[in-house]
Amino acid sequence: SAKTAGRNCHKYFEPKMNSWSKQRLEISSRLRKAISDNEFTIHYQPLLCLKTNKVVGGEALIRWFNKEEGITPPDRFIPLSEENGLIVRIGDQVTEMVFATVVRWSLYWEEEFRIALNISARELQEANFVDRLTQQIKKYSVKKSAIEIEVTERLLLDNRTQSVKNLLKLSSLGIRLSLDDFGTGYSSLSYLQKYPFSTLKLDRSFLKLVPHNEKSAALSSSIIHLAHSLGFEVIAEGVETQEQYEFLKAEGCDIAQGYFIAKPMSVEEFENWMDQCGGYIHIAPDDKGSKK
Ligand code: C2E
Ligand code: MG
Ligand code: MG
Ligand code: MG
Repeated sequence: SAKTAGRNCHKYFEPKMNSWSKQRLEISSRLRKAISDNEFTIHYQPLLCLKTNKVVGGEALIRWFNKEEGITPPDRFIPLSEENGLIVRIGDQVTEMVFATVVRWSLYWEEEFRIALNISARELQEANFVDRLTQQIKKYSVKKSAIEIEVTERLLLDNRTQSVKNLLKLSSLGIRLSLDDFGTGYSSLSYLQKYPFSTLKLDRSFLKLVPHNEKSAALSSSIIHLAHSLGFEVIAEGVETQEQYEFLKAEGCDIAQGYFIAKPMSVEEFENWMDQCGGYIHIAPDDKGSKK
């Protein structure tokens, strides 16, 4: 009957919808609390120069740590915080923490050492984004050459005037810009012409089948060569195997980042890791080739 159907309907839909929006509300309020309780921390993943095997910097990656929930990865809270605008305050905290670390590290690591920060589309739409960043740079006396800003390729889709203005301002201040996740669906080579990027980060989806799948390998190497001919530096993301590492090195890719080199680490872990390897990674020749 209609009554039963209605009841079933009610039973089936309402609790679900409720729990969906309730969950979002819950995470939003937990995020607000996380901001005021400083529950965020930064992990750093090394960037390895493929020509010299030297560690030339790292990427700063946010982690949310809470006693009850443990670690919540960024993909579980960054999109929501972009929607509700909390990302602006979170981004401020990230920048503060990263700058404090950059200053500490620049005391004992080399000139060219650099740390990359991820900035979301929502942050870049703020009219005062560059002013606030500049204030933080002054506050910590960070060298502009020691930082780099990563923006995801998807962001450029919306093509907002404010975002474009901010990118141009950043670049005119001498801050290097990376195009993150290059190749994740919406790539347009015209972005490379239109915006002031100096680095292209090849998304890890490209490397998944490299080097065994011929087409994937051809695609990756073509992008590396194309980027180079346009004057961009290339960073390969998600390097998980020695074969991928060797492939990228042979193709002339500039920098590698991925679990094969190291996972993202806390400040303390990163420092210990650097001390242990002396800033250089030794990679023994791969013996797989000789077995073929
Ligand atoms: P992303 O900027 O593309 O960062 C690279 C992601 O790949 C990181 O995930 C990293 O841990 C992961 N990764 C690194 N090497 C490997 C590998 O060899 N294999 C695999 N499978 N994964 C690898 P994570 O830390 O979970 O961050 C996810 C995304 O969240 C980032 O993607 C970035 O878009 C965003 N994000 C992270 N930190 C921040 C932040 O401080 N602010 C903003 N706005 N977004 C952030
Ligand atoms: Mg990134
Ligand atoms: Mg990426
Ligand atoms: Mg990504």
